[in-house]
Amino acid sequence: MTPLQKAANLTVVVLPFGGFLASVVLLWGNFITWRDVTILVVGYLLTCLGISVGFHRLFTHRAFETSRPLRYGLAALGSMAVEGSVITWVADHRKHHNFADREGDPHSPHVGRGDGVREALAGLFHAHVGWLWGDQAHADERRYAKDLLADRGLVWVTRLFFPLVGLSLLLPFAAGWALGGTLGAGLQALFWGGLIRIFLLHHVTWSVNSVCHFVGRRRFQVRDESRNVWWLALLSLGEAWHHNHHAFPSSAFHGLKRWEIDVSGLLIALLARLGLVWKVVRIAPELQARRELGARPSAELADAPAGS
Ligand SMILES: [Zn+2]
Ligand SMILES: [Zn+2]
Repeated sequence: MTPLQKAANLTVVVLPFGGFLASVVLLWGNFITWRDVTILVVGYLLTCLGISVGFHRLFTHRAFETSRPLRYGLAALGSMAVEGSVITWVADHRKHHNFADREGDPHSPHVGRGDGVREALAGLFHAHVGWLWGDQAHADERRYAKDLLADRGLVWVTRLFFPLVGLSLLLPFAAGWALGGTLGAGLQALFWGGLIRIFLLHHVTWSVNSVCHFVGRRRFQVRDESRNVWWLALLSLGEAWHHNHHAFPSSAFHGLKRWEIDVSGLLIALLARLGLVWKVVRIAPELQARRELGARPSAELADAPAGS
């Protein structure tokens, strides 16, 4: 990628986020308070974990097993991130792993595009949000999520998707009203803890699809364009160690080095210690070393299972 492409990529990602931060500073005290920020952060963390620990690592890749209450609780929390129902999300994501950066991938920034700046920006836009409206967007659930369709509890969570979305807006409103004591405080909390929270998590999740297949570091032998992006890993609670994840899709831990902070992985490790989750998939250091770039290629490791 050329320096111009890198600069353009950084601009489209950072500029809107900078605008959001500027609006917080300008509105501070008038239309946003610590109460709103607290409600936003709590809602963001819970729904982000619903996506990363629930939708992604548990349901898509079966990186661990757990009890029914925690299973359906995670499915409900993930639904409240408003990224589609659990079964739809899982089917699309499994298809992404199946075709990663090849024809058939629902959201690759690379497939069928040239090397110019315009093509790069168009690819990034497609991978970020454009794919949601594309013809090829959604995977066949009966093909990619048959196991989840057989789980009656999950089918119920899927049916309850819209009520759960409503609840994800109602809760911040109720918290703001209860803590602030006025209807206005409730509406303000609905704005920050509901709409802005959804907006922020949408873009963080979508950035894993776009940015993490475009810029960042690689160290394993993989056949796709996945990358690790440290700053996005902080915001996505570990999901942006995306290159590690493509190398070892079924691993419960996406951060594989000590310094690769993976909040979702830390939570899974804690839940395992508490006996709340089990059969946690860990990738042995020797296996990681054998997949590193420059290591001797090994036929049986060339195609690690997608975990789906
Ligand atoms: Zn990917
Ligand atoms: Zn995945």
